[in-house]
Amino acid sequence: MSQPVLYIVIPCYNEQEVLPITCKLFKAKIEQLVSAGKISLESRILFINDGSKDGTWGIIEGLAASDPVYRGICLSRNRGHQNALLCGLMEARSLADITISIDCDGQDDIDAMDAMVDAYLDGCDVVYGVRSSRETDTGFKRFTAQSFYRLMERMGVETVYNHADYRLMSSRALDALSEFREVNLFLRGMVPLVGFKSTSVYYERHERIAGESHYPLSKMLALAINGITSLSVKPIRLITGFGLAVSLVSFIGVIWAVVVSFTGNAVAGWASMTSILCFLLGVLLLSVGVIGEYIGKIYLEVKARPRYIVSEKTWER
Ligand code: UDP
Ligand code: MG
Repeated sequence: MSQPVLYIVIPCYNEQEVLPITCKLFKAKIEQLVSAGKISLESRILFINDGSKDGTWGIIEGLAASDPVYRGICLSRNRGHQNALLCGLMEARSLADITISIDCDGQDDIDAMDAMVDAYLDGCDVVYGVRSSRETDTGFKRFTAQSFYRLMERMGVETVYNHADYRLMSSRALDALSEFREVNLFLRGMVPLVGFKSTSVYYERHERIAGESHYPLSKMLALAINGITSLSVKPIRLITGFGLAVSLVSFIGVIWAVVVSFTGNAVAGWASMTSILCFLLGVLLLSVGVIGEYIGKIYLEVKARPRYIVSEKTWER
């Protein structure tokens, strides 16, 4: 068997500070894997410019013009990390035997790719990169991230603990992923559903080499809510369960009220009435909100708008 063609797939959004540094690291990794005889000379680094507002696309174009190992795709506008990544994977699917997706900020240990490729050569179709520790993260980031994985698990979404989007996928796993037509993407929840033989590779996560994170708390929360509502209907079941419990308590309350009124002890209970009313109204509005979340999702899925639009490819000019 000849060596597999590897595409490293890297979404980039406003990364002009870090790209000139990390692009060399990715290239060195490709060269090292080629000389170790593990991957083909045809292997490439594929950047997806996710509608950056800075000089990111210019840098990618320059790289592609200077060295054939670099390739770039420009999206028509900013679509977010998950959509940009899916675009890269779907484009690489027909060109490569394996893809490794990674962020462009150097936070994920590039050297873990060796073990990923080894696992592929050993017969795995999916290899998850898993952070072995979070020492470089702030206490806040660590806490929110851990709560995130726990919440996902509680809500019945199967994810790999401490795995983000650093992973190897074979072209046949990507073909299977392409059959998932949803527009609300949460790739780390979708890939386990694809199946095939998989394993994990552990690595230490570093700090960003340069530039700033594009995932503030608000975006992390949005990602968590999207992940749960895209892959699980457990929140709706929780509402049903809670509704049942409240109905049961109300039933007992009604009996109590009838008994009290018959015994002639009925006193105007303003405080208890108000509390019950406020509580139930709150629960009701929250429940409608959760259901609305799903209906909104159905709305978006039914429209089935394109998940990304490519405006340019550096190798098709
Ligand atoms: N990214 C993207 N589109 C966006 C936001 C981020 O393609 O709208 C890319 C970004 O360039 C980086 C990766 O997604 O390569 C992860 O983003 P970041 O490092 O800011 O997130 P963090 O590692 O802090 O969670
Ligand atoms: Mg990062």
